[in-house]
Amino acid sequence: MLITAVYLVVSDTAPTVPEIPISDLAKSVGVGEVKKILVEGEKLTITYQNDEIKKSKKEVGSALSQTLFNYGVTSIALAKTEIEIKDESGFMYVLLNLLPFLLPIVFILFFFWYLSKQVRGAGMQALSFGQSKARITDPNDKNNRVTFKDVAGCKEAKEELKEIVDFLKSPKKFLDIGARIPKGVILTGAPGTGKTLLARAVAGEAGVPFFHLSGSEFVEMFVGVGASRVRDLFKMAKKAAPAIIFVDEIDAIGRTRGGGFGGGNDEREQTLNQILVEMDGFEPNDKVIVMAATNRPDVLDPALIRPGRFDRKVLLDLPDRADREEILKIHAVKKPLAEDINLKLIAERTPGFSGADLYSLMNEGAILAARENRKKVFQFDLIRAIEKVMLGPERKSHLLSKKEKEITAYHEAGHAIVASVLPYADPVHKVSIIARGNAGGYTLKLPLEERRLQSKKEFIDDIAMSLGGYVAEQMIFGDITTGPSSDLQMATNLARAMVTRWGMSDLIGPIALVGGGGRSQYGEVVEREYSEAVSTKVDAEVSRIISDGIKSAQIVLSEHRKAFDAIARKLIEVETLEQEEYEKILTAHGIILKKKDLPTTATV
Ligand code: ADP
Ligand code: MG
Ligand code: ZN
Repeated sequence: MLITAVYLVVSDTAPTVPEIPISDLAKSVGVGEVKKILVEGEKLTITYQNDEIKKSKKEVGSALSQTLFNYGVTSIALAKTEIEIKDESGFMYVLLNLLPFLLPIVFILFFFWYLSKQVRGAGMQALSFGQSKARITDPNDKNNRVTFKDVAGCKEAKEELKEIVDFLKSPKKFLDIGARIPKGVILTGAPGTGKTLLARAVAGEAGVPFFHLSGSEFVEMFVGVGASRVRDLFKMAKKAAPAIIFVDEIDAIGRTRGGGFGGGNDEREQTLNQILVEMDGFEPNDKVIVMAATNRPDVLDPALIRPGRFDRKVLLDLPDRADREEILKIHAVKKPLAEDINLKLIAERTPGFSGADLYSLMNEGAILAARENRKKVFQFDLIRAIEKVMLGPERKSHLLSKKEKEITAYHEAGHAIVASVLPYADPVHKVSIIARGNAGGYTLKLPLEERRLQSKKEFIDDIAMSLGGYVAEQMIFGDITTGPSSDLQMATNLARAMVTRWGMSDLIGPIALVGGGGRSQYGEVVEREYSEAVSTKVDAEVSRIISDGIKSAQIVLSEHRKAFDAIARKLIEVETLEQEEYEKILTAHGIILKKKDLPTTATV
C-alpha cells in the first residue's frame, strides 16, 4: 500500500504530456509539422518541428503507416516524418504488464511464509519447555565477577570452599592421588548471610562456568518439566566441565518427600529424584560440582544430604562485630564518606544484622545523604539508617492524641526502666515514642558484649523487660490497651521455648519437647511428641514464668516510681531520649547504671 501510494503521488506530479486523437496527428503529419514519431506498441510519442511533445494512441494490431494512410496522409508527407519503432515485447514489457498482478501475490506469499515462521517459532518454544533456564556466568566476564575479596567474614566457610576452588582449578592433583572431591556442597545460614554471594565467589575464584538456577524455577507450570530441566542442566554442565551448578533456595524442591503436604507434590518429588539420580551418575572425574543454598536445612530430604550427594555442609553465621565492620567497609566503597564516619561504632550498634541488612544500612545512609543534597555520607546518616533498617521508616505523620502519647510514653518508659534496673537485661540506649514501622514507640537495647549463648537468667529478665510496657500501662492508667500485643507474644514465645526447648524449667526438667522443625529424625511430620499430661504442665510452666515476669516488672516500677515518672514525662516532652540524657535522669534518681558498652536490640 505504501509503495502504491508513493507511485501514485510521483506519477501524478510527473509533467503531463497532452494526448491528441490520431486524426489530429494525421493532419499534422499531412502539413509536415511532425519531426518524429516514436512507436511503442500502440503508444505514440510525437515530437513536432518546434520540439513540442505530444502523445497519442493507434489502433491495436494495425501498422501506423496504414492508419495514417487511411486518414489520407500521402506517402510523400509521411516520408518527411521520422518513424522509430521500439520493441516492447522485452523483459520490461512483461514485467510492467505482470507487476500489478504479481505484486499482491508476492505479498500474500510472503505473509503466509512469515506467519508460518511465527508458528514454527512458537512450536519450538513449546518444545523447549524442558530446557534448563539456568543463567550462565562466564568466567571471562570481568565486570560481574565476584571473588572471595567481595565477601567479608565467613572465614571458615571460605576455607572450606577454597578446597573446592583448588579442585576446579587443578583437578589432576586430586585425582592422581585417588581423592574424590565432594560432589555437592550445601550452604546453609540465615537469610542474607551471603550464601548466594559466596557461591558466586567460588565460581569467580575458580574461573569456571557457573550455572545459576533457583529451586522454584525448576518447578514451573508443566508436569515432568522439572525433571527434564534437571537432566538438561546437568548435560550442559558436563559439556562445559569443569563447572559449578548452583541451585539457590533448594528447599523449594529438596523438601522431604512424601511429607503429606497435600496434593501437588509429585512434580517436586520427580525433580528431586532426578537431581539425586544425576548426582549419582557423576563419574569421579566429571569435574562438575553442585552447590546449593538454603536457609531451611531442617526440611531437606535426608537422601539429599547423605554422603556422596550434598555431603559438604558449609554453615554461614550471622557476622560478628569485626565481620560487620568488614562488610560495612566493602559496601562503603564507591560511597564518599565524611571524616566523622566511624564504621566500628556502627558495627558495634548492629548485633544480629546480616550481611544483607548491613548492605541495606549503607544504602539507606547514602539515600538519606542524597535526599538532603549532601555530597558525602555522614555518621548520623548511618545512625538513622540503623533504626530505619531495624524498625522501618519513622511515621512522623502518625499523630497521637494527648492520651495516646501519654500511654505510649509510660509504656516505653516501663520497658526502659525494667531493662536498666534488672541485672541481666541489656542496657538501654535509646527510648522513643515516635512511631516506626508497626511500632507505636520503641526502646533500643544494646548487649554489653556480643553473645552466642544466652542464659536462663537473661531470658527471665528479658521476659520481665518485655512485660514492662504492659505493667506500666496497668499501673498508671488502671487499664490495658492493644499496644503490648507484640510484647506479650514475644514474652510468651520466649517462655515456651525456655520450657520446651532449652530445659530451663525445673518442673519439666531437661527434656527437649520440640525440635527438628516438627519432624522426627526419619523425616516424617510430628505433630507433638509428648503426652496430654506433659502438655498441661508445659502450659502451667509458661504461665508461671510470665506471671513471675509481671511480678518482677511491678516491683521494679513501683520501687523506681519517681525515675519512671520522670522518664515518661520527659518522653512526652521531647519524644526521643538518647542514651546520655536517659542515663542522666536515671542517675539523678539514684539508679546505678550497669557497666555500659554499646547498643542494639529492639523492644516495641
Ligand atoms: P543469601 O544468604 O540470602 O543468599 P545473599 O548472598 O543474597 O544472601 O546476600 C545478599 C547481599 O548481602 C549480598 O548481595 C551482599 O551485598 C550482602 N552480603 C551478605 N553477606 C555479605 C558478606 N559476608 N560480605 C559482603 N557482603 C555481604
Ligand atoms: Mg540467596
Ligand atoms: Zn512495648
